[in-house]
Amino acid sequence: MNQATYKRKYNTEDTKEVIIKAFLGVLVGFLFIVVYSVCYTLGGKIKLPEMFSKVQMIDKPAWNLQLVNAENVIPDQYDIDLILLRNGQSVDRRIYDELQEMMDDARAEGLTPLICSSYRSHDKQISLFNQEVSAYMNQGYSREEAIENASKWVAIPGTSEHELGLAVDIVSVGNQILDQSQEQTPEQKWLMDNCYKYGFILRYPADKSEITGISYEPWHYRYVGKSAAKMIKEQNICLEEYLEGLK
Ligand SMILES: [Zn+2]
Repeated sequence: MNQATYKRKYNTEDTKEVIIKAFLGVLVGFLFIVVYSVCYTLGGKIKLPEMFSKVQMIDKPAWNLQLVNAENVIPDQYDIDLILLRNGQSVDRRIYDELQEMMDDARAEGLTPLICSSYRSHDKQISLFNQEVSAYMNQGYSREEAIENASKWVAIPGTSEHELGLAVDIVSVGNQILDQSQEQTPEQKWLMDNCYKYGFILRYPADKSEITGISYEPWHYRYVGKSAAKMIKEQNICLEEYLEGLK
């Protein structure tokens, strides 16, 4: 083979290789688009691979990240499967194991945490809210002012995480008053430091009231799952900010 023939042959083979590679590249890209589109369309209806979980998140938040606040009311026909706790309280069955583990570990530290409130029916929330409104009206506030003040302490019915079964109010047996003094109890100090390990967050921190719309509650813990709880703690953000970051 002289040099010219060799060069021609070499070029021809090289071109073939480039064409095959380009074809394979286009094929892989096409297949990826097809798989992505199918998963996007079926998001929420089938269990998606990890890489598509964000697609599912945007369409329909995972159950543990359900946002409920003054602007986000509980969805109609929200399904809830409750499990009864030993003290007569109940929570969403899916948070039971981690909640129990957190309580057990706190007790193993010699602490005495007490779940004083957990799942609340919509009717119960209405009754609590009305009680708070009445208390303000008894202090001389107008009905409008009383509702505004009450909503800072008791969520307006339909906007309480307690209706989700994913929130618990935990106090110290030694101090069962729901006020700022809770943060001084060893139980709250331990819970605030450790709750993220069990998938819980302190839902209404003092410095996030502007965003959450709820005054500081150093007793209200909300289940969001371990990875979200860890990030929320590490970045010192609240659930609203965390969910905004996922968009
Ligand atoms: Zn609460």
